[in-house]
Amino acid sequence: MSGFRYADYTDMLKAILDQGYRFVTLREFFEGKVTKDEKIVVNRIDVDVKIGRLRVLRPIFAELGIRSSVYPRLHAPGYNLLNFGTVRLLRELIEDGHEVGFHTELMDASGFLGVDPRSLLRAQIDLMHILLNAPIVGTASHGDMTPYNNLDFWKTNKPQDFGLIYEAYDARLWNDCRYVSDSEWTQWKSYDNGVLRDGDRRPPHLHAAEDGTRVLYLLTHPESWYEHYIHE
Ligand SMILES: [Zn+2]
Repeated sequence: MSGFRYADYTDMLKAILDQGYRFVTLREFFEGKVTKDEKIVVNRIDVDVKIGRLRVLRPIFAELGIRSSVYPRLHAPGYNLLNFGTVRLLRELIEDGHEVGFHTELMDASGFLGVDPRSLLRAQIDLMHILLNAPIVGTASHGDMTPYNNLDFWKTNKPQDFGLIYEAYDARLWNDCRYVSDSEWTQWKSYDNGVLRDGDRRPPHLHAAEDGTRVLYLLTHPESWYEHYIHE
């Protein structure tokens, strides 16, 4: 069970559930709606490339009773966040109990276009609030093949200044968890309390099973998963 088919995704989630973990959104984590002794999965989904694949992941989550925090981009080269069908999909996710935030590219906007990132963030939060009819309370910085590190925005800004509760790399979570990510597409990588676990390519459920990790911070991307072939 090391592939990236939807069936592998389902099996991975089931294997974690079978070990007694509860899946929570980042909002729930940062609002303190978890207890200190329970095993949790903080379930984050960054939508870098293919937002349509959320239509496949949604019923998987519904079947398993799992919720997540989903972060779409405003500036994705390959999809239009403001497309009505996409807005409706995000609304349906919220109705299912998922959280929708923003996968932000504020330093790219500022560095490449000279846009004021603070004004941009306020405007995009307001825009999504109107479209989704639900507040945005968290962001997750996007990393790309550009000279800009979008996390740098948070060196001089606080989420609370924008009516937000958190940024997804907040030290309260990042420095106290096992982070396992599919961001290298064909293999997993992991961090322990913010430090890279060099060469540890185990899938998330094995971190849970073999290491007894209490806080598993799971990051997946819809485009990493497929029925038969990644570019189907
Ligand atoms: Zn990203």
